[in-house]
Amino acid sequence: MNTNKKILIIIALMLILLATATIINVAINFRDYSYNNALEKSRMTAEVVRDGLTAHMVNGIMNKRDFFLTNISNYDDVKKLWIVRSPKVDAQYGPGLPKEEPRDAMDARVLKSGIMEKFVKEDADTASLRVSIPYIASSLDTPNCLACHHVDEGDVLGVVSMEFDISRTRNVGMFTVLRIFGLNVIFIIIALYLTNYYIKPYMELFANLQQGIKKAHLGDFTHRFTTKIKGEGKEVADDMNGLFERMQEAFGNIKDQLSTFVARSNISSSDPLYEASNIIHELSDIYKFKKTIELDKDKYAIYKRIYHLLQEKFELKHFAVYEVNHTRKERTLLYITKGKSFCSHEADTDALECRAYRTSTDIISTDFPELCASCTSNGEIEYACLPFVINADYTLVLSISSKTKEELGDISGKITSIKNYLEAAKPVIESKILMDILRDSSLRDGITGLYNRRFLEEHIEHEQAQIQRDRTCYDILMIDIDYFKLVNDTYGHDVGDTVIKALSQILKESIREADLAIRYGGEEFLILLRHTSAEATQRIASSIHENFKAKKFIIGSETLEKTLSIGIAKLPEDADSIWKVIKYADTALYAAKNTGRNKIVYFKSEMFEGY
Ligand code: GH3
Ligand code: MG
Ligand code: MG
Repeated sequence: MNTNKKILIIIALMLILLATATIINVAINFRDYSYNNALEKSRMTAEVVRDGLTAHMVNGIMNKRDFFLTNISNYDDVKKLWIVRSPKVDAQYGPGLPKEEPRDAMDARVLKSGIMEKFVKEDADTASLRVSIPYIASSLDTPNCLACHHVDEGDVLGVVSMEFDISRTRNVGMFTVLRIFGLNVIFIIIALYLTNYYIKPYMELFANLQQGIKKAHLGDFTHRFTTKIKGEGKEVADDMNGLFERMQEAFGNIKDQLSTFVARSNISSSDPLYEASNIIHELSDIYKFKKTIELDKDKYAIYKRIYHLLQEKFELKHFAVYEVNHTRKERTLLYITKGKSFCSHEADTDALECRAYRTSTDIISTDFPELCASCTSNGEIEYACLPFVINADYTLVLSISSKTKEELGDISGKITSIKNYLEAAKPVIESKILMDILRDSSLRDGITGLYNRRFLEEHIEHEQAQIQRDRTCYDILMIDIDYFKLVNDTYGHDVGDTVIKALSQILKESIREADLAIRYGGEEFLILLRHTSAEATQRIASSIHENFKAKKFIIGSETLEKTLSIGIAKLPEDADSIWKVIKYADTALYAAKNTGRNKIVYFKSEMFEGY
């Protein structure tokens, strides 16, 4: 039930209650009035009768009393009037007239008790008051009753009985009540009409406000308020309309502007407030994510964080992340959740087999049957493969799988948001890759591509701690070209560079992956052989020595051949510090140079003493 109806019902009830109370009150008053009026008249009449009878008696015309009584009976409203004589009066004066006998039980009772009695007789048409008033003998009255009557003080001399018609008063009362009732009904109808007329527009405005505010709670500010009320009510509606228009515009603008920062897949246009809040929330999360990964060590640390994000925030259960190298067209599996990859291994060696990478589009299995030829699942799983280009060299491919189409549907709903995160991570990953390249180039020698002395210095710091912990063994070779200056002097610097490059190539080919080749100085190279046997060290050193010696450099019509001197020291046999061992290898090299060059010399402690 609306408020308008409620108010009208309450007002109607109150008015009906008031009218009923008034009518009841008026009716009771009228009844009391007519009753008391009749009673008063009966008392007065009784007095008149008594005084009249006394006068008749004093004047000795008591036998004429009937005439008097009949006249009195014709008074207004007196329907009947009669007197009853007491037995004591009868005994003194002889029996009275026959009609002066008690006519009913009330006469008899009052005659006996001397107490006045009355009662009202009512039916639908008439109403009358029946009263019996006793005459009590008293010596105090004037004239003194006891002077004539042979009775005792307080004896009942007789009774005056009357019947008064109170119908007229009652009927007047009834009509008055009916009139009041009629007036009240008219008043109630008018009151309700006016109340409804004036309150209804306010109630309508109130309902309209309620409706608009409910919509606003859901972020919808499109509601416009209308009212028929002029003045205050119209002002309220206009103010609210102005406020809603501004809110709609402001939130709409905020949402549009925020959308330029972050892509949204499920924009709800009717709820800009909710949408803006969601976008701000996502932006804030992405910002935090970006700030965190900026401080990560390298791109692999960022990748790890992305795997974590996919599992924890996006609740992906099965996915794999691949990195594709654009130049080599090779694909590397960086991470996979539990289970095997459903993607063919052929795509690892030929990344163009990966449809997502080749087409640079999202591949969603539900879009078309057997969409990607590299999928090996035979239709048992659904998948979404998303390519994400990091820079000119690398693309990440995120491959998400699910057992059901419904689950994939859920995942598809998250794709836009996942891409927002990856988009934010992109410049950071790119800068980490650049930093790695930069760092690598500062640690490598430009001519040979080998690590340089700076790398050794940095690497040794880290390696030294491990050496002690893991008891790592290193055999260190210090290599120097014999009489190299002559090459420069005779054939020029370019030829010198060619010789240096040739030696570095021989070094690269002679060592294993666990070993390190470093350009230590101009034409001095250092080889760190990790965990090698004495024989292997000797074999490698000889191989380097022989291969270089056998190398022929053709310069015009001339053929140039060069030799090497190699000094070898061992960790931990010769010393427990890597720097010391390098120094001892240099000592051995010095010894080789001093003893004719073109040879391999092992460090001996005597050398150091003589050095
Ligand atoms: P030794 O047998 O005693 O080693 O005689 P050497 O002439 O080789 O003497 P040393 O090792 O002192 O000479 C090093 C020379 O290498 C000096 C320098 O001009 C030359 N050199 C250093 N770096 C480069 C380079 O990058 N390119 C060229 N072409 N020459 C270099
Ligand atoms: Mg030299
Ligand atoms: Mg040298």
